[in-house]
Amino acid sequence: ETLSNQSEPFNESLRLKTSVRNLVAFSVKDDALWSFTSYRLANEGSLAHSQLHAINRAKGNYVSEVHLSHSFEIMGCILELSGRADGIWRLNDKVIIHEIKTSATPLSEIHENFSEAHWAQGKCYAYLLSVTEDISEVTVRLTYYDREKNEEKSFDKTFKRDRLQRFIKTLIHPYIAWVRSQEKWKATRNISIENIIFPYPSYRKGQKLLAYNTYKCIEDGKRLFVQAPTGIGKTMGVLYPSIKALGEGKVDRLFYATAKTTTRGIAETAYNILAEQGLRLKVLTLTAKEKICLNDEKNCTPDKCPFILGYMSRSRKIVKDLLKKHDFFPREVITQAGLRHGICPFELSLDLALSCDLIICDYNYIFDPRVYLRRFFEQKERENYHIMIDEAHNLFDRARGMYSAELNVRLLLDISKEIKKDLPVINKALIKLRKELSVLEKQAGELVSEAGGVKYNTGHNAPESLKAPLGEFITAAESWVSGERDEEPYTDKLVNLFFDILHFKNILEIYSANYRTLITGKKTGFSLKLVCLDPGSMLDRRMSAAK
Ligand code: SF4
Repeated sequence: ETLSNQSEPFNESLRLKTSVRNLVAFSVKDDALWSFTSYRLANEGSLAHSQLHAINRAKGNYVSEVHLSHSFEIMGCILELSGRADGIWRLNDKVIIHEIKTSATPLSEIHENFSEAHWAQGKCYAYLLSVTEDISEVTVRLTYYDREKNEEKSFDKTFKRDRLQRFIKTLIHPYIAWVRSQEKWKATRNISIENIIFPYPSYRKGQKLLAYNTYKCIEDGKRLFVQAPTGIGKTMGVLYPSIKALGEGKVDRLFYATAKTTTRGIAETAYNILAEQGLRLKVLTLTAKEKICLNDEKNCTPDKCPFILGYMSRSRKIVKDLLKKHDFFPREVITQAGLRHGICPFELSLDLALSCDLIICDYNYIFDPRVYLRRFFEQKERENYHIMIDEAHNLFDRARGMYSAELNVRLLLDISKEIKKDLPVINKALIKLRKELSVLEKQAGELVSEAGGVKYNTGHNAPESLKAPLGEFITAAESWVSGERDEEPYTDKLVNLFFDILHFKNILEIYSANYRTLITGKKTGFSLKLVCLDPGSMLDRRMSAAK
């Protein structure tokens, strides 16, 4: 299928691959999507999908999870677009593409044009199907499913193939323009990298060996552990060869992860020294959301934060302008841009990161299961990343914390008291959870060990019996967390508890021989902690996302 104007030059060398999901996320800036997806739980979504698939299959003529893919000649490139449609009905008189969205928003508030992006996904699949099977007309059925109530709401729209073709062009054009601008930038960047030299007259003792081994490890795709004394210039010794490798196309992007804000400054200084020599590199320092937030209320829902309202529709142009003006995006630049344009600086930094060559950030953004950068580390067709971990001896302890989780009765009780009148269903789920904790307290018996004046018991077994009440609480609270709500004194506490419980449940799912269950306190002071002793396998999984 040719989407291009035949007179355009065809550049055989530029071959691109992308998914429908990525294409739509890039080209359709839909504010409804922001609030819709921000709290959506992926596992709940897929469970809901399989429930709907089973119902539809039983009705006949339905195939679920259909992989679709097609290559197009467009704007002088070959673009392979692929994705998985949720389902296809092949009826006598029509073919229907099914796109399912698990809804946390009440179905009564969802109307036909609720989200441009949801229709865009359906239309992309419809077009892929129409070209691969030569069908002149395809219907898109968009189904919103409320899993809690087991209710669905569907909308149908039928499209001719040429209309779908025109639509898909409107998505592909900005995407390819962006890819081309990235290519152009990389050419400028790589010439500057070629021209830089090591910024000091000579290497310090051990520094050359460090630089050599860093480069060699990138070439060989291996991991390098470095133990070196203070003062040999570790940061430059690692950063300089990594930037050289980036310029030679051996890696696509660099991450510099640190345990402390102060050491992030050292990496920034090293970059600035090279920039004085003429290095062109887009560099971003990620600052924690709570530190860079401009909203006194610290509430990210669109009705409580003016900085996120309309963010999606405005951000692309702002990001483009910033990239034209700056190479270096430390905290001050991001904050000023957020203030000047009235948009969320944290979301802005995440969007800018996609066009940056070096991202300086806390360990969390790479390793913490709650906040790691999904946009980089969850893609199937990943780029080659090179991760530099500063003071890696700190990572082990930090990671133990990231992969441990705790529940304590006092907190559940306090929140219960505050919500019992307004939110009886959520409160009931909390009471159930507390009851199960008290069963576990009884089973644990006397606390026989002691450390630092605190009595405790440890066990090797996962508290499996908590899974059901945890799941019930999450189901009960999810729509409240993601829906519209009045601000109450307990709001922040309950939102935090929701995410803590979600984290606890996720950790319980991966409980293994590397975990212990730690029990302390009695009655209202009772606490149960899933302690990660060895996070090695989790760190290894994250590191596998890199060279
Ligand atoms: S400014 Fe950003 S981080 Fe702060 S509340 Fe608004 S959306 Fe959240």
